[in-house]
Amino acid sequence: MKVPELVNVGQALWKKELELVQKKHGRKFKQQETFEQAKIRHQRDCSHLKGGPNRNRLSRKDYNVSKHTFIDCTVRIRCLTCGMKWFKDDTRSILIRNGKEHINHTGLGWTDALKMVEDSTNTPSASEHFPQFKKEDAHKKGPTEYYTD
Ligand SMILES: [Zn+2]
Repeated sequence: MKVPELVNVGQALWKKELELVQKKHGRKFKQQETFEQAKIRHQRDCSHLKGGPNRNRLSRKDYNVSKHTFIDCTVRIRCLTCGMKWFKDDTRSILIRNGKEHINHTGLGWTDALKMVEDSTNTPSASEHFPQFKKEDAHKKGPTEYYTD
């Protein structure tokens, strides 16, 4: 009978295919993780100031942040250097994203972000586009994951 042979050949091919897929995804996930970690480190170490590390310490602090108001009145503060974003429910330890709590790797909350906007020469902006995200209640449990976007 040739049927068992064919089945075995099929299984062998399937196994090889699966190995290739796993290998491919394994690499992909590893790269993504490294990228996320690098971004977290960059945002954590960012001073969010204009001028970089050689800036004169005696000069007035000028944060490189922009305050943006969306059409649904959601306000977002973003650092133009590292891309970090803050929303009004963010505290120094927790970031709320898509209703979920995440570790705040910057240690700066919404009030800190607002203070940076006050100390920035950047002009606030407003959007005519409607952002596609919902604000949901935060979980009671503490955050376990980092968040970057
Ligand atoms: Zn920054």
